[in-house]
Amino acid sequence: MMIVMTPQAAEDQIQAVVARLETTGVHVVVMPGELTTAIGAIGDPEGVAELGIEGMPGVDRVVPISRSYKLASSELSHHEPSVFDIGGRTVGGGSTFCLIAGPCTVESREQTLGVARAVKAAGASMLRGGAFKPRTSPFAFKGLGAPALEILSEAREETGLPIVTELLDAQHAGLIEQYADVVQIGARNMQNYALLEVAGKLGKPVLLKRGLSSSLDELLQAADYVLKEGNEAVILCERGIRTFETATRFTLDLGAIPWLKLHTHLPVIVDPSHAAGDRRLVGPLSRAAAAVGADGLIVEVHEDPEHALCDGPQALQASQFAEFTAAVAAHAQLEGMRLA
Ligand code: PEP
Ligand code: MN
Repeated sequence: MMIVMTPQAAEDQIQAVVARLETTGVHVVVMPGELTTAIGAIGDPEGVAELGIEGMPGVDRVVPISRSYKLASSELSHHEPSVFDIGGRTVGGGSTFCLIAGPCTVESREQTLGVARAVKAAGASMLRGGAFKPRTSPFAFKGLGAPALEILSEAREETGLPIVTELLDAQHAGLIEQYADVVQIGARNMQNYALLEVAGKLGKPVLLKRGLSSSLDELLQAADYVLKEGNEAVILCERGIRTFETATRFTLDLGAIPWLKLHTHLPVIVDPSHAAGDRRLVGPLSRAAAAVGADGLIVEVHEDPEHALCDGPQALQASQFAEFTAAVAAHAQLEGMRLA
């Protein structure tokens, strides 16, 4: 923590700040400059944050030096990338590329089993599918609920693919715990801190999507909410953010991937489907994701996107999924990765 005094700060004001900092046992260094004096407080940033230094006479600003996210950070103790085994599929670590694919929403048994077979045959690592859907309009299809989880379970039984499905509300935690292999937290719930704690307690890997308008710092602090429950398996997902650009549904922040790789040990995957909102962009964005070092993708696939109940325009055609996978695998290979 660095405390910057105003140019007018008097010596007794500087000494008052030093005295207050010293009550927490931090090492204090006073650095007089040409215009202002800066005071460094080394150690215990939490204790210092609670001292109310900002309000003291002569203080201009308090500048934190250490990161706001702790457990997700690769800078403190966790320098090596985290690697998770999920039903025999490796996520993270840099040598495998995880391809999660499936429908946006479980609409029926036939639809889900059909897509599950297609994505399995093409080499997908896991099956996605929503049972409880967060919809912008309360009048839109919100998913089949519990029966959808039964259908996903049948698809897992047949294909062997682990299931990724969203925990929308804490009241469904028991059900999701029973059926999911990976618990998805949707973009709209990234800052639902109570839900993050519930997800953290389920003891299953959590796929945490970046909020629509959330910074990467906020994403990593959200990950800390899950990690602090003792759950080490958090997969981050860049799924596009709100910008002034409206040509695409969201703006896929490709720079987020190498930035996250520098600052966190957690695996990072990309959702090009929700970012693009248009299936024609999903292939290029997926290949780009592999090129910037993503650990995998989560993509939407449908056998009949025209009649999908949710997100049809962005769903890849199931019949074209093998071709898509081959292109992604080739790009992942350039990065030294093979499909998980
Ligand atoms: C989804 O993956 O189905 C979904 C709703 O995504 P997001 O939370 O990123 O909008
Ligand atoms: Mn969707």
